[in-house]
Amino acid sequence: MFKKILVANRGEIALRIIWACKELGIPTVAVHSDVDRDSLHVRFADEEVCIGPAHSTESYLNVTAIISAAEITGADAIHPGYGFLAENAHFAEICAECGITFIGPTAETIRRMGDKAEARRTMIAAGVPVVPGSEGLVETPEEAREIAAEIGYPVIVKASAGGGGRGMRVVNGEEELAAAIEAARTEAAAAFGSPAIYLEKYLVNPRHIEFQVLGDHHGNVVHLFERECSIQRRHQKLIEEAPSAALDTRLRERMGEAALKAARAVGYRNAGTIEFLLDEDGSFYFMEMNTRIQVEHPVTENIAGIDLIKEQIRVAAGEPLPFRQEDLRIHGWSIEARVTAEDPWTFAPSPGLITAFHPPGGPGIRIDTAAYAGYQVLPYYDSMIAKLIARGKNREEALSRLQRAVDSFVIEGIETNLPLLSAILRSPDFREARLSTRFMERFLAERAAAS
Ligand code: ADP
Repeated sequence: MFKKILVANRGEIALRIIWACKELGIPTVAVHSDVDRDSLHVRFADEEVCIGPAHSTESYLNVTAIISAAEITGADAIHPGYGFLAENAHFAEICAECGITFIGPTAETIRRMGDKAEARRTMIAAGVPVVPGSEGLVETPEEAREIAAEIGYPVIVKASAGGGGRGMRVVNGEEELAAAIEAARTEAAAAFGSPAIYLEKYLVNPRHIEFQVLGDHHGNVVHLFERECSIQRRHQKLIEEAPSAALDTRLRERMGEAALKAARAVGYRNAGTIEFLLDEDGSFYFMEMNTRIQVEHPVTENIAGIDLIKEQIRVAAGEPLPFRQEDLRIHGWSIEARVTAEDPWTFAPSPGLITAFHPPGGPGIRIDTAAYAGYQVLPYYDSMIAKLIARGKNREEALSRLQRAVDSFVIEGIETNLPLLSAILRSPDFREARLSTRFMERFLAERAAAS
């Protein structure tokens, strides 16, 4: 096992990783920017190293500073969490060169799946269904026109290097195509350093269903069932649940098999997620693979009864998976809501001092957060300040617990999206699990029309 783990992240996920290390008896090193000294991940780690100024390019993305911090403190492994360097193949390579274990897949897998067009090609070759679209990258507007005409409008232009919902444009007809390509290219070049794009059919009312996979270094790979993440705003997830009300046993088996096929196609190690779109007619398509732990991993932990972070650490240390696919079962239901420091209706960021903070507890409630009364929400980083996660014997119980928890969570001093979360959970469509990735668009339009 590792002697010491450096956590190359901040906020709730850094703390989550530190908890797992404590339970495994592994000392931890927190890294932080100079404005993050008062963060809880710094307080609860065994050691701390300041790695630079507030701006993440100079701190949490600063490879040299992070590697130096690991070397100075004698950490033999780095957990990257999600975001920041988690899907940076170059960082994974540098770790390997320095004899530090990167807790995640190989640099080669990260690179291959991070290039979405390459990921599509890999999945087509492996026999995993992908959304109809271009074979690989689209170079010229003429090529795009031909492919779009063939698959039919609407289509979606996607940046091959894209992520976080950026670098995508929906195109409803040929007259919009050239401008959309131009816009996606410009956005992708600025945000990801590459203007490469490809084309997919735009599914009009799909569900976002993803499968958690876990592989060890001995060729074993399992899936830990699905999560439904259809509640999104601007392609950003807001509420996630496991399992999905849209899957019956048969469909779960078919999608699970496809997820395993996808993971095996790249010899996947560690925790990863295979994202699918599930169309209204029951067809499903591979969308992309995320080669890291996800924000929404706790709902899977709840239904599978597995600590994913501990498993990540164990398999990275070379231990074989302690279970096989046939040992795994779904227990109950779990729903997560992301609490953000934002105005609930305008979505304007609301950084500042939290003056009161009373998280709900009680049966079936888990809260992953690094916030507290007296904590200053900083404008430099992600606006998510807590994840409220409920579990129950079925969806109804999980939902009633989450509703109760959202409604009794007291956060003062800043604006939060708690009123929005509460309204979504109370809506008849959510209660009856009539979900799709267009849910939020409709929900917000109806609300605007009613006021
Ligand atoms: P990112 O890597 O930026 O998260 P994804 O490829 O995972 O991008 O897509 C994010 C979201 O965008 C999906 O969850 C879905 O809501 C929407 N989306 C992506 N591709 C399609 C498509 N072909 N048809 C309909 N919606 C799509």
